[in-house]
Amino acid sequence: MKSVLTIGDGISAWCLNFYLTKIPDISVTQFSQNHFISPCSLNSTAINCLRGTQKGLTPLGDLMVDSLSEFIDFNQTYQPDGVFEGEEIHLFNPNHQYNNRYQKPIELNGQYPFKGVKSFYREKAYLISPERLKGWFLKNSSGLETFTKFIIAIEPLKEGYKVLTQDGDYYFDEVYVASSYISKTLLAGIDVNLDQYMKYAKPVSGTYLEFEMDRQQIFKRYHIDSDICFDMEGSHLIFRTSEDKIIFGSTSDQSSIEYTNPLIFESLEQIRTYFEYELPEPSAWKQRTGIRFKGRKRTPYWGEISSGLFVVTGLYKNGYSFAFKAARDLIISQRTPF
Ligand SMILES: Cc1cc2nc3c(=O)[nH]c(=O)nc-3n(C[C@H](O)[C@H](O)[C@H](O)COP(=O)(O)OP(=O)(O)OC[C@H]3O[C@@H](n4cnc5c(N)ncnc54)[C@H](O)[C@@H]3O)c2cc1C
Repeated sequence: MKSVLTIGDGISAWCLNFYLTKIPDISVTQFSQNHFISPCSLNSTAINCLRGTQKGLTPLGDLMVDSLSEFIDFNQTYQPDGVFEGEEIHLFNPNHQYNNRYQKPIELNGQYPFKGVKSFYREKAYLISPERLKGWFLKNSSGLETFTKFIIAIEPLKEGYKVLTQDGDYYFDEVYVASSYISKTLLAGIDVNLDQYMKYAKPVSGTYLEFEMDRQQIFKRYHIDSDICFDMEGSHLIFRTSEDKIIFGSTSDQSSIEYTNPLIFESLEQIRTYFEYELPEPSAWKQRTGIRFKGRKRTPYWGEISSGLFVVTGLYKNGYSFAFKAARDLIISQRTPF
């Protein structure tokens, strides 16, 4: 029986585990260390929406559209827990430089509780609960063995790989590395293309705010009874009625990695001036931060970098759709995106 290891416990690894555990005659093991390297996937606003991206303009745009289709197919086929269908509303005020990605905006005339906003564009969106989706993947990756281990290095052998951890060495026939920005050090010097990609890849922190409020309260205070994300100049005010919370975010900071970021409150103040109802006071929100891994020109990277050694990395702001396509490409179709 072939032994396969996945490294990581974020959306990339969850999707890989799902497909790998469906292959007969292999054993699938997962190593991760979430206490010390917190998964971005559990510190994410986690929405899938095209945001005006169309096919036929750039390779990245094509990949974004294809990855969202892959996610939608997966959602329709398996109906995983933790995925809620809703809407994203892009709001444009008179001073806003109108982005022509959004065709035919509609005049705002009381449809949504915003003032000083001229028009809007509505798109279908999928609002994801990372914890519930993770639980579903775990339940549906039958036979997967999971261990908390800190990986120090991966060494190629004549056949298979030696994986060095804090409590000993382990041997596997194949390894899938889904450890986000840590892949940069774990996989350095193995493949020239990956090394070249990693030269330009960097971690970017993202801070957002979360406030727990049950759906009855959300309706009473804001007259909103569905899962909906309001997007204004890149800031998102998200009513997650299915999860009893409001989320506001997020920052994008390449210069420092801190757990809190005061800039998020400046954006909150801005949205307050447009929103018709009172939002919770700044001190009432809980700050959360995740580390995204941004690849060269925002492109992700997935592929087989040496016989039996695979990587999925650089998913940046699209992890919740790219990961589904990456897993299909590597396990079902065995090809790279570009
Ligand atoms: C504020 C914010 C908002 C976002 N919003 C969206 C959104 O709306 N839509 C969207 O699609 N994406 C969004 N993203 C991006 C998305 O969350 C990420 O692209 C995605 O979570 C990356 O998943 P991953 O599995 O590649 O990495 P991660 O989730 O970071 O997982 C990496 C895993 O590797 C493990 N690991 C790393 N090194 C080691 C080691 N040495 N030993 C053992 N284990 C190790 C970690 O413990 C972790 O389990 C957002 C991100 C942030 C921060």
